Amino acid sequence: MKKHLISLILYLFFICSIHFAIAQTAQKPRFKAVAIAEIGGGHALFDVAAKAWLNKLAADSNFTIDYISDTKSINKDFLKQYQLFIQLDYPPYPWEKDAQDAFEDYIKNGRGGWVGFHHPTLLGVFDGYPMWQWYSGFMGDIEFKRHIPGGTAAKLTVEDPAHPVMSGIPASFTTKDEWYIYNKSPRENVHVLASIDETTYNPPKDVKMGDHPVIWTNEHVKAKNIYIAMGHFPELFDDGNYTTLVRNAIFWAVGKSQDSRGQESR
Ligand SMILES: [Zn+2]
Repeated sequence: MKKHLISLILYLFFICSIHFAIAQTAQKPRFKAVAIAEIGGGHALFDVAAKAWLNKLAADSNFTIDYISDTKSINKDFLKQYQLFIQLDYPPYPWEKDAQDAFEDYIKNGRGGWVGFHHPTLLGVFDGYPMWQWYSGFMGDIEFKRHIPGGTAAKLTVEDPAHPVMSGIPASFTTKDEWYIYNKSPRENVHVLASIDETTYNPPKDVKMGDHPVIWTNEHVKAKNIYIAMGHFPELFDDGNYTTLVRNAIFWAVGKSQDSRGQESR
């Protein structure tokens, strides 16, 4: 009897080992992402909500996500590890020269994809740092002029419903965030996926750009990239349209890079 029990235990141990090995293989991550977010600052609550949501997405979808809070570790070798760079909450300053060079190389040559939220278009002279000219070009040759603080609802219009990032998003929808105003529309330099209807600001605002894109992609670089202007308030993660956009953007951007005309390379 005792002998049988030992055999049974050994058998169960053997089966468990096989299951463990299979699970290990299945859990090999699909890709590795790195996300940069400031510590503290005006977007700290957004970052908390975003990280919780992203961590769940990563666990559910079998990818990994590492977080950094400044650009000190960014160089070409560091970025080589990652198939996706998420600029969760970080402006285009202050970046060390090595970090700038490595990031430019990553984007220009499509070494990975990029998804940026809100803060990356804070383009201009801030805290004594000159504007990063290349980055301004990446964002459509724009400069930040001012913002509409406090949280303003607005209707967004989807301009390219066929784009994979817009899959499952209604033709127009209302959302609420802090809106950035630029010196001009980036439209002539980027492919606009959605824009804001400034007549629908609630409460109404006089600060208007006219043409005001809020989601776009720059097709002049090899990296698949998506900029999403919304990224100030944590409540965005309670909005199903927003989470669909973020999910779509991540899985689209991490796909194959695009050639110089913006087409997906084979
Ligand atoms: Zn903000």
